[in-house]
Amino acid sequence: MATIGQIVFYRRCCRHLCQDPGSSSHNNNMAALSRSRHRWKRIKCLHVFSRNLTGKFDYDLLVVGGGSGGLACSKEAAQLGQKVAVLDYVEPSAKGTKWGLGGTCVNVGCIPKKLMHQAALLGSAVKDAQKYGWQISGTVCHDWPSMAEAIQNHVRSLNWGHRVQLQDKKVKYLNLKGSLVDEHTVRGVTKAGKETILTAKNIVIATGGRPKYPTNVPGAVEHGITSDDLFWLRKSPGKTLVVGASYVALECAGFLTGIGLDATVMVRSMALRGFDRQMAGLVTDYMESYGTRFAWNSVPKRVDRLSSGGLQVTWTLAQSGEELKDTYDSVLWAVGRAPETKALGLDRLGVELNEESGKIIVGADESTSVPNIFAFGDIGEGRPELTPTAIKAGKLLAHRLAGRSAELMNYDNVATTVFTPLEYACVGLSEEEAEKRHGKDGIEVYHAFYKPLEFTVAERDAGQCYIKVVCERGGDQKILGLHFTGPNAGEVTQGFAMGLQCGATYSHLLQTVGIHPTCAEEVVKVHITKRSGLDPTVTGC
Ligand code: FAD
Ligand code: NAP
Repeated sequence: MATIGQIVFYRRCCRHLCQDPGSSSHNNNMAALSRSRHRWKRIKCLHVFSRNLTGKFDYDLLVVGGGSGGLACSKEAAQLGQKVAVLDYVEPSAKGTKWGLGGTCVNVGCIPKKLMHQAALLGSAVKDAQKYGWQISGTVCHDWPSMAEAIQNHVRSLNWGHRVQLQDKKVKYLNLKGSLVDEHTVRGVTKAGKETILTAKNIVIATGGRPKYPTNVPGAVEHGITSDDLFWLRKSPGKTLVVGASYVALECAGFLTGIGLDATVMVRSMALRGFDRQMAGLVTDYMESYGTRFAWNSVPKRVDRLSSGGLQVTWTLAQSGEELKDTYDSVLWAVGRAPETKALGLDRLGVELNEESGKIIVGADESTSVPNIFAFGDIGEGRPELTPTAIKAGKLLAHRLAGRSAELMNYDNVATTVFTPLEYACVGLSEEEAEKRHGKDGIEVYHAFYKPLEFTVAERDAGQCYIKVVCERGGDQKILGLHFTGPNAGEVTQGFAMGLQCGATYSHLLQTVGIHPTCAEEVVKVHITKRSGLDPTVTGC
């Protein structure tokens, strides 16, 4: 049997020979190749090598990673007539949680998260319902195992659906952990350690990322969980400390509060870094009034298991250095995500990585520094970590690799929603970023506080329901950014995102007639500028 090392060595020699004929390295390579040829005679599985050198591969396209992006790319490529295989393998979490085909979004991300968010929203709806005349006798309480089982069953049905779709679309699904041998070869390993070598004209890496644990907090891995575990817990996590203050942390703490648990968010610097500061403040203000606790400017120090079974967390206050402790049933680390590029063997091939993030450096066409190897989705440096971008980028890449189109992914003006108790959606620039690019006098900010109609009878506080439209100040007042907090924020914002793609201006917004009575109509009515200092509270109908 040829070892992987022998195959790589032999191929490298051949590649160099082809690239630099006549050079001194060419001569060295010739000598190396001749030595290698000698050794090669003893190699039995010559078919792997010869098939590749004659340009015939097992597949046109091998996709490593069957998540949002990898599945979309492989199915699209197969529909365009390419011979495709997708490798997907889930390494169990540090706590031993594992799941099926479909990647982060389906199993441990968007889908279970949104469903748990829905469970929490229903809790608020039950409270509202009484104001609307519903007679609810007895206490209404939430049962985690019922929710978890229903959501997990739905996720399993999605896993199954993905397998069926791959079969229908003639994509070969391989439950193998992939690593790259060279620019045409992938080594796949089963759970039991059985190895398969696969070759393809092009290789696409879409292996996403996994939650990180802090490296300097004793007890963090031993006693803590991550979002990879939370959605698969059979028992309620109970009183939970959520460490981190971005999307994952706030969304998880939000739905935990909403289903009646005691949840605390530990923030070391700021909430929702990178988002519009004013909007981030509204999101956390609402959460505080909703019952989520916040430990601001706090840095976790250690986690210890008490004899009572609880977890004692020690943290320090960033400014004073004062040390504080509290006891929780669960500690959820939501301190960011990291790709597992090491396991892919990319260093051997010279695929360039960002040293800090470990992500793959990619061009506008998702190419890496090595020909025939492409990467996109969460593993791509600088790409938004969002499912729809991974799906769209994957489909476009499939078209380009099949020679059907040259269209590149447009990563501008991608809308997003943070599914916190009061949802926040946005598209385009934050006020700070717009100011940085256009100057304070170069932008006009239109804004309004509004009251969702459904909040009125329910007597809910609407103090954080707010709209902000950031425009260029001159010319047609092109819209640079649009921000919305309120019910169904994602549903409201999706259509406006198309407007931004089309280059919408403030006058386009004003020309648009609202749909009454909705929250979305408030967006097309914004007319008070921040500069004017007028009260932006919307009153009346
Ligand atoms: P992934 O979906 O992560 O898929 C990668 C796949 O590759 C995985 O199945 C992995 O197991 C597999 N793999 C890894 N290494 C190997 C290997 N060596 N061999 C074979 N297989 C391998 N985005 C949104 O747009 N909206 C949301 O509401 C949203 N909510 C989220 C909530 C949470 C809690 C999290 C964590 C993320 C959320 N995201 C959301 C982000 C979204 O899930 C990701 O951006 C998206 O899944 C990225 O897709 P991907 O294809 O790049 O990678
Ligand atoms: P993230 O955006 O990278 O945020 C990490 C958070 O953890 C930050 O608040 C950071 O604080 C904090 N942190 C990091 N190290 C820490 C430490 N050692 N101690 C305490 N706090 C620490 O990560 P994420 O929330 O996991 O989200 C990852 C990506 O998933 C997002 O970029 C998003 O694209 C995607 N996602 C999307 C959705 C959605 O679309 N609704 C939902 C979830 C996730 P600092 O600011 O101080 O660094």
